[in-house]
Amino acid sequence: MAVRAVVVGAMGRMGKEVVKAMLASGDVVLAGAVDRSSVGADAGASAGCAPCGVLVADDLAATLDAVKPDVVVDFTRPEVVMGNLRLTLGKGISAVVGTTGFTPDDLKELDGLATANHCGVLIAPNFSVGAVLMMKLATEAIRYMPRAEIIELHHDQKLDAPSGTASLTAERLAAARGGFLQQGHPDEKEKWSGARGASHEGIRVHSVRLPGYVAHQEVLFGGLGETLTIRHDSLSRESFMPGVLMACRKMEKRTGLLYGLEKLMD
Ligand code: NAD
Repeated sequence: MAVRAVVVGAMGRMGKEVVKAMLASGDVVLAGAVDRSSVGADAGASAGCAPCGVLVADDLAATLDAVKPDVVVDFTRPEVVMGNLRLTLGKGISAVVGTTGFTPDDLKELDGLATANHCGVLIAPNFSVGAVLMMKLATEAIRYMPRAEIIELHHDQKLDAPSGTASLTAERLAAARGGFLQQGHPDEKEKWSGARGASHEGIRVHSVRLPGYVAHQEVLFGGLGETLTIRHDSLSRESFMPGVLMACRKMEKRTGLLYGLEKLMD
């Protein structure tokens, strides 16, 4: 059965890809498009497809009341996503969220809100299947090579650092190596502040921001006389679309917060 979706942030880099992917899919129907820019424009034409008759609106609440979608897909900005989700989940509509930058308190609030309203919210810091596998393989590797650092590389318009994927990877790696204490040389000093990156329980995370990159991450493991690098590259935003569409299809039956695409891949 077809799933009817509203895309919020539909005119952004990711939002336009989602619009394209929905228009090409047979079963996830673009029922509404919300953005602050290109209001009134045809969402399909603005995303580089044929006109689809869905016009970009700027009022999320009014769109949800008019369209009554099965699911809302949010690719907006860290500072507005919580407001969008309070509105969406408050109406009992499930959400698929790619926007990054949530705090642990935000996640707690969203879980409570979704559960109270009998709907679901999937927050996936990374919708690409390859990235999910990269995290899974790294979590396996750290059991045998517990000393690790992460390098994440993104385009220079990204607002949050470290990336949602890098923080999720660091959290999972720290949990998987079960209390191992990773320390550098006791006399190590940063000549320039930040040279050693940010630290999550001793796992250093380095964020690169340059034009030309999309979304990339390396997890580096160091052992006695050997290193292991697990690297994932999203070469275009298309790489996220199978995951987004899969989530739209599966979220209707879920309740509460699901964090990470792999929660839908079991
Ligand atoms: P972008 O800046 O190109 O797009 C954001 C869009 O949101 C813009 O069109 C903007 O006008 C719109 N917007 C802002 N406030 C709004 C509001 N209140 N209501 C409706 N629309 C609003 O950004 P992007 O590169 O498309 O990334 C969007 C988010 O997705 C970021 O948080 C980014 O980190 C994240 N992201 C996630 C994944 C993933 O796989 N989870 C992949 C890439 C990017």
